[in-house]
Amino acid sequence: VGSRSLESIRGDFPILSEKINGRDLVWLDNAATTQRPRQVIDRLVHYYEHENSNVHRGAHELAARSTDAYEDARKKTAGFLGAPSPDNIVFVRGTTEGINLAAQAYVKQYLKPGDEIILTLLEHHANIVPWQLIAEETGAVLRVAPIDKTGQIILSEYTKLFNSRTRFVSATQVSNALGTVAPVAEMIQIAHAHGVRILIDGAQSVSHMPVNVSALDVDLFVFSGHKIFGPTGIGALYAKTDVLEAARPYHGGGNMIADVTFERTLYQPPPAKFEAGTGNIADAVGLGAALDYVSAIGMENIAAWEHTLVQYGMAELAKVPGLHLVGTALNKASVLSFVLDGHETEDVGKYLNTKGIAVRAGHHCAQPVLRSFGLEGTVRPSLAFYNTPEEIDALVRALFELVRR
Ligand code: PMP
Repeated sequence: VGSRSLESIRGDFPILSEKINGRDLVWLDNAATTQRPRQVIDRLVHYYEHENSNVHRGAHELAARSTDAYEDARKKTAGFLGAPSPDNIVFVRGTTEGINLAAQAYVKQYLKPGDEIILTLLEHHANIVPWQLIAEETGAVLRVAPIDKTGQIILSEYTKLFNSRTRFVSATQVSNALGTVAPVAEMIQIAHAHGVRILIDGAQSVSHMPVNVSALDVDLFVFSGHKIFGPTGIGALYAKTDVLEAARPYHGGGNMIADVTFERTLYQPPPAKFEAGTGNIADAVGLGAALDYVSAIGMENIAAWEHTLVQYGMAELAKVPGLHLVGTALNKASVLSFVLDGHETEDVGKYLNTKGIAVRAGHHCAQPVLRSFGLEGTVRPSLAFYNTPEEIDALVRALFELVRR
């Protein structure tokens, strides 16, 4: 992958050497969460051993260190996404919190009964339910862009959804259930041509391909640290400056204020305005280390290697008798969802576990899209750049054994 051998990359990830049921772990559940390299784990240890303090408030050496480390992570996140400034980055718990923040603090104030929000059929529940909540509160309605039988957004149908009542669009860049890479550059342009702002859910994209929020001209963008080799409980919301200025505070408390009296409160400018209370300082620092790690390998290199793996995986899985791939869009990342004739998805997952192979089986928090294929669940191997063709071979071998039993 780039200039690094797979063997040396895998050596960075201690957990990849685990034995599961007497076998080498084959981690193919990267869409649920990725594993962490030593560099991220060490950074967390270093933080707690040498830097730990609350940020901003204390006038002492450790407060300076922790503040520097936290703000440095914000700079790294901005740089990684191609954001104009670290001030455009709000640290959140993850994609879910980022989308809820966008819905509650920004979009809700503009909604009147009958106004419309456009989503797509590909969405994870995290990009459906927050919009339903504000729709229920305001009388707005959700419109859903359909997909074709490969699992790709039908752009002409998406375009037709816009009208004078459209207030906002929220769409995923990569489907966690099918792996479809949506044409978000076009979707953003189309939204803007109609004068509508758009949020892109990057939970499944940032670890698999280069993303530049400025080149995309996207208004809001969210991702989770744990899906890009960083810690759990930390993620980032990018938004354009005017969006952050127009948004109301999401949570109230310390850190986000400039001045408080019982009569009124003056807020800090963004991003502090959205970061009430003590944040997840250590894990933000760990996220910074994760972004450094993937940047050193190169997102282009990661994307190229994973493209090879996905193509290989699709071709090999298709050889298994009775196996049907779900999600066959030409532009696809990481996810190899399938169903197997005569076998419940959960049973396939359990069988693979006996071979040390970790996959997800079920609805993957994306029930609407699976139901559009007439399914309640799939088996979902999902790849990261540290996976190998040999691991795909192990998966396919185990599936052959299962169908021959
Ligand atoms: N959106 C997508 C596309 C996802 O895959 C996920 C995680 N499965 C989420 C949102 C939610 O992310 P988190 O649970 O980290 O908040």
